[in-house]
Amino acid sequence: MPSYSIDAPEVVALPVANTDATFPVRRVYCIGRNYAAHAVEMGHDPDREPPFFFQKNPDNLDPSGEFPYPPKSSDVHHEVEMAVMLKSGGNNIAIADALEHVFGYALSLDMTRRDLQGEQKKMGRPWEIGKAFERSAPVGVVHPVADVGHLSEGRIELKVNNEVRQEGDLNQMIWKVPEMISYLSDYFTLAAGDVILSGTPAGVGPVQKGDIMEMSVQGLGSVKVPVT
Ligand code: MN
Repeated sequence: MPSYSIDAPEVVALPVANTDATFPVRRVYCIGRNYAAHAVEMGHDPDREPPFFFQKNPDNLDPSGEFPYPPKSSDVHHEVEMAVMLKSGGNNIAIADALEHVFGYALSLDMTRRDLQGEQKKMGRPWEIGKAFERSAPVGVVHPVADVGHLSEGRIELKVNNEVRQEGDLNQMIWKVPEMISYLSDYFTLAAGDVILSGTPAGVGPVQKGDIMEMSVQGLGSVKVPVT
């Protein structure tokens, strides 16, 4: 055992369906504007420009099943996304080989302090203050590929208080999962434990304390996440 000068931070570990073993998280990459209708609603051209990514912190992923409304914002938006969990990685991964690195998939929310993100965008500054805050990514259990296969199509939806707010189909992603993995691997060294949030369909909007969010992806079931 190595000797640390302070207590070592805990490994962030997410529950995996049908097993006691958990999925340890290394990094979290999030793609922006990956569904055309969402790019349009945010005021951007949906043409296939090169993808862009930002990061959240591993411990922003929160499997607790609730979302505490964060401080310093009065405009916190839901973004339902499919999360992709990697079991291996590397550099210069070919698109054709990319899915071999996927361990599984999970429901997730890229919660966003939209007011703060907007200020940062205007000033050309990084987005972390709007995106990478505490518990900013509620996540469901990880479903291994062995159980659910690979997901490239199927309904993705978010309800708030039983009303559909976001809907789309995984097949509407501008950059598909294998393309995202390949692209990221050209710029970063991907590795086991990395997580990719694959973008949100149209219909993002604010939540309030007391709201019940319900995220679902066909093949991954649904998870309710109250805003507390
Ligand atoms: Mn997002």
